[in-house]
Parts: sequence; C-alpha cells; structure tokens
Amino acid sequence: MSDCIFCKIGRKEIPARIVHEDPEIFAFEDIHPQAPMHLLVCPRRHVASLADAQADDAALLGHIILVGSKLAADRGYGSGHRTVFNTGEEAGQTVLHLHLHVLGGRAMRWPPG
Ligand code: 5GP
Ligand code: ZN
Repeated sequence: MSDCIFCKIGRKEIPARIVHEDPEIFAFEDIHPQAPMHLLVCPRRHVASLADAQADDAALLGHIILVGSKLAADRGYGSGHRTVFNTGEEAGQTVLHLHLHVLGGRAMRWPPG
C-alpha cells in the first residue's frame, strides 16, 4: 500500500528505529512508547489486521510472535512481557497494517483498558 505508514517504514521511506529485519517481517520502536520497551512487529506484506489474515498466513503470524518474544528476551524481558494485537477500531487499532505490540519493563494490569 503506497500510503500506509508501516509499509513506508518497512521500505525505509520514513525513519524509524528498526530493531529487526528479515525477508518476511520487520520490527521497530513505537514512537509513543507505553512501557520502557515498546516494539512493533509487522509483516512486510500489507495485511490490514488480524481479521484479514488467512489460513496460509499461519507461519507468518507464528514468526511475528516468536521474533517478538525473542526481541523481548534479548532486552532482558524474557520472563515478563506482553504481546498484543489490537484488531479493529473498538479494540484500539489506529494503524491499519497488522502489528504485534511487544511491551515490557513495567508492571502490567489485567484486564487491559
Ligand atoms: P495501534 O493503535 O494501531 O494498535 O498501534 C499503532 C501504534 O503505532 C501506536 O502505538 C503508535 O504510537 C505507533 N505509531 C504510529 N505512527 C508511528 C510512526 O510513524 N512511527 C512509529 N515508530 N510508531 C508509530
Ligand atoms: Zn501497510
């Protein structure tokens, strides 16, 4: 998608602090961090949300989750971090390119707001 902000970050057309890249996915620091660690992990291919993922995206989604967990572990949060997909406006999704939030470094509450 030519005007999608996360597609643009993946293509390096706008700057971001990228912390992981491979042929399928990339990860970067959230511009408005909600915790000491707040990373976003995205597929390179534009998928609007988890609701748009298909059965053959299963490996891609697993890769996103495992890389997110590894990035947390690399930062010392292996035993305490939160991974979140916001799906749809009601759930708080504001950027319509699928992304996994990876948060750590503070106590988290449940249920989330
Ligand atoms: P959502 O609300 O869709 O689940 O999450 C979108 C996230 O993207 C938010 O946490 C927001 O701070 C982050 N974000 C939005 N625009 C940018 C940007 O241009 N750069 C970076 N690094 N993060 C962004
Ligand atoms: Zn996109």
